Amino acid sequence: MNCGTHTDKASIAQCANCGIGVCSECESYSSVLKPYYGILCPNCFKQKLNESVKFLKKEIIKDSIRLGIESLLWFVGFILIIWAIVGFATNQDTLGVVLVLILGILIAGIFQGIQVFWAGRKERQVDDLIVAASSYDGYTLAGGLIGSTIGKIIAFFLNTVLGVFLSVYSIIKMSISLNNETKTYKMLSKEQSTVNNVEKNN
Ligand SMILES: [Zn+2]
Ligand SMILES: [Zn+2]
Repeated sequence: MNCGTHTDKASIAQCANCGIGVCSECESYSSVLKPYYGILCPNCFKQKLNESVKFLKKEIIKDSIRLGIESLLWFVGFILIIWAIVGFATNQDTLGVVLVLILGILIAGIFQGIQVFWAGRKERQVDDLIVAASSYDGYTLAGGLIGSTIGKIIAFFLNTVLGVFLSVYSIIKMSISLNNETKTYKMLSKEQSTVNNVEKNN
């Protein structure tokens, strides 16, 4: 079979998207997307490149908002928890201190807690680690016994309390993945403008 784009050249593979022949020149042309989509013909490469840049842009915005909200909540809650600990140490009004502590835990961990109610929570990276330890046990155990609503509420509180610690892990992990997304986005949009320039000049 010959290359679908360069009809005088022998193909070395088939486009992973549309199946036409791909020669070595086409292969190197699309190499930047090879780890994500396999070998592509020039047309599919352009299409996938545009899709990927668009998709990454959306993901970066979504993840930045998520990271911002979780970091802010955790930080405010953490300050309240420290405040309460200092209050215990200096023997201030116990009821007030306990209330501040509970409020601090709720605020610091709520971002992890509410994920119990999200349909897509299984996709969250942090879940691999926490599911076994926290929410799932509470959720499935209580869910099987009493009913899923009560189970979810129990799981929500479990996840929120554990969220005081798990949020730190989640924030670090999200920062790393946001950084990687941004790097890939920059690399691909550079490639995109190169491809567009080549097209303009031809
Ligand atoms: Zn193709
Ligand atoms: Zn070719």
